Amino acid sequence: MISPVVEVADDRFARRGLRLFLKRDDLIHPELPGNKWRKLKHNLGPAREAGTVLTFGGAYSNHVRATAAAGKIFGFATIGVIRGEEHRPLNDSLAFAERMGMRLTYLDRASYRRKHEPDVLAALRRDWGDFYLLPEGGSNAPAVRGCEELGEEVPGYDVVCCPCGTGGTLAGLAAGLGPGQRALGFSVLKGGFMDGEVERLQRETYGGRRGAWRVEHGFHFGGYAKRTPELDAFIDDFAERHGIVLDRIYTAKMMSGVLALAERGEFREGTRILAVITG
Ligand SMILES: *Cc1c(COP(=O)(O)O)cnc(C)c1O
Repeated sequence: MISPVVEVADDRFARRGLRLFLKRDDLIHPELPGNKWRKLKHNLGPAREAGTVLTFGGAYSNHVRATAAAGKIFGFATIGVIRGEEHRPLNDSLAFAERMGMRLTYLDRASYRRKHEPDVLAALRRDWGDFYLLPEGGSNAPAVRGCEELGEEVPGYDVVCCPCGTGGTLAGLAAGLGPGQRALGFSVLKGGFMDGEVERLQRETYGGRRGAWRVEHGFHFGGYAKRTPELDAFIDDFAERHGIVLDRIYTAKMMSGVLALAERGEFREGTRILAVITG
């Protein structure tokens, strides 16, 4: 299904001559929402061929959760390697993953940091047998190509915004846009490494930089999964105005950034802004 675009009437944009649209990727699939579906899509073939997928994530990872659901729906085994120690009872995300048939294992933080190194992977292969490896957050070249389709679905908007966790969504989105369109990513992590990650993913996928894109670094609210009273108030206010509850890890940070940039006068009058509700 092609996710719908809705225009939202928001006077804070309208009074500056801006139009705001939302791309509802959160409605794509109940268990594989938004960018997680786009990133998994072109990985399903190799996953089924291998029979088993192994991937990595934190205890609340949307990617781990979506990979578990994909395994159940599309018929391959899944192994989730989780950062840190096991805590029972499992939180909702991991309990869901286990219900979907995912086998969970845990890596201490020091090993987890080295998770893509050959000795750590060799130890995982010894324990779990052969597998198709999906990197943390699911961002690899097939994932970027899946997100390219997002860019191709949205001609006619001047600026297309998305949140950035690993940068895979932005890398593909920017590549899929047409001439005159630009992509704007909002990093939900502290630190300036996101631009480098998007570049690396585009190089891995296309051999070089593609499309017009930029990363905003001023809207992480303290870092990954960190929240502030200001962010919570923004989420409540947006829900009241538009009836959409933004998730506090990703889309709320993006939307508050889009609004702040609009209020700062960073968009020319007449700009059509599309914000992707990634999940
Ligand atoms: C995983 C996730 C992201 C991050 O996407 P990246 O491709 O890792 O940058 C953004 N929004 C939502 C809702 C997510 O679940």
